[in-house]
Amino acid sequence: MSDLFQEMNFKDHEQVVFCNDSDTGLKSIIAIHNTTIGPALGGCRMWSYKSEDDALKDVLRLSRGMSYKSAIANLNLGGGKAIIIGDHKTDKSEPLFRSFGRFVDGLSGRYITAEDVGTSVTDMEWVRMETQFVTGISRALGGSGDPSPVTAFGTFMGMKAAVKRKLGKSSLSGLKVLVQGVGHVGYHLCDYLYKEGASMVVTDIDEGNLKRVTTDFKAEAVTPDGIMELEADIYAPCALGATLNDESIPKLKVPIVAGAANNQLEVEANHGQLLKEKDILYAPDYAINAGGLINVANEISGYNRERAFSQAEGIYDTLETIFDLAEKEDIPTHAAAERVAEKRMSDLSKLKNIYLPRQNPMAKRDN
Ligand code: NAD
Repeated sequence: MSDLFQEMNFKDHEQVVFCNDSDTGLKSIIAIHNTTIGPALGGCRMWSYKSEDDALKDVLRLSRGMSYKSAIANLNLGGGKAIIIGDHKTDKSEPLFRSFGRFVDGLSGRYITAEDVGTSVTDMEWVRMETQFVTGISRALGGSGDPSPVTAFGTFMGMKAAVKRKLGKSSLSGLKVLVQGVGHVGYHLCDYLYKEGASMVVTDIDEGNLKRVTTDFKAEAVTPDGIMELEADIYAPCALGATLNDESIPKLKVPIVAGAANNQLEVEANHGQLLKEKDILYAPDYAINAGGLINVANEISGYNRERAFSQAEGIYDTLETIFDLAEKEDIPTHAAAERVAEKRMSDLSKLKNIYLPRQNPMAKRDN
């Protein structure tokens, strides 16, 4: 007999749903990690996984991460994620996403989906034809639209908290920031930095994106190799994950790492510790980049952009809490973030005794 239920990643999940529809070709897995604080919200990733085992591992890892991200962002949401096995460039169709939408609907709001790597606003609009439990749709349809301006604002607030802690300054004026990746989030982040009076050294593999920030914000462009070795006040990874690793950390010449990219630490425990040993203050990625999640979460109660920005401003306080705990306990900041998120989940689990059947989370939405 298989020992799937004992598998490391599987065992702390509440529910994992395998969705198979041979008519549309849908092969999808929906993982619900934890609904203690609220319905599980997390994007749907479409990817050509090498094996079904890889797909399962990915969705379990990602859904667990969403529980922590929602908890630390003080959202009343749990953690979940979905994957669709397939090539996002060639395998997409309306029936495929509508079929996925029907499976989401069958969970009656325990899981709410959204865009992720390989899926788009259009795909989510197909999903919406079958279920109301979907976010990340266009502004025109009452959704929250592009989340990157809110993510950038939250990241900027988190940077300010890190600068205050490490350099004792309330403003970023006169500081030098290395921005790796100036796509959606990186562009808006540079806008905030420019307005605050910081100087920026930027890099990107996309010439067009690079040109935009050098023209609009007087940023200095450098080639992708070597940006992390430059001397500056902040390194802001806003492109890929895993840029903080055994090779790169010893080369860093910055007192602060604070950027929007997901999964910045190649191996969380090792590289979080290594940054601490080098006396570099690391703003944990899922705490500082929560603006995007805050933005889509706002769709649930009826989207209000002002409220989304105001909640993203709270990332400053969240990071202060994390830094306080890390200092008090003498632990790396990524470990402190984990504890803060776990404490909220644990504190709120006490509500279970008096909990009423959960209301339809999307009830107020105008369909
Ligand atoms: P994006 O694709 O718009 O921008 C990424 C940029 O990085 C692109 O311009 C790309 O050309 C560049 N890039 C890729 N490889 C590079 C390399 N090796 N060196 C330098 N530049 C490189 O993505 P985005 O929406 O701006 O997101 C950026 C990061 O932030 C991602 O890690 C994403 O997961 C994370 N994030 C984004 C949001 C959001 O609201 N968009 C929310 C949370 C987290």
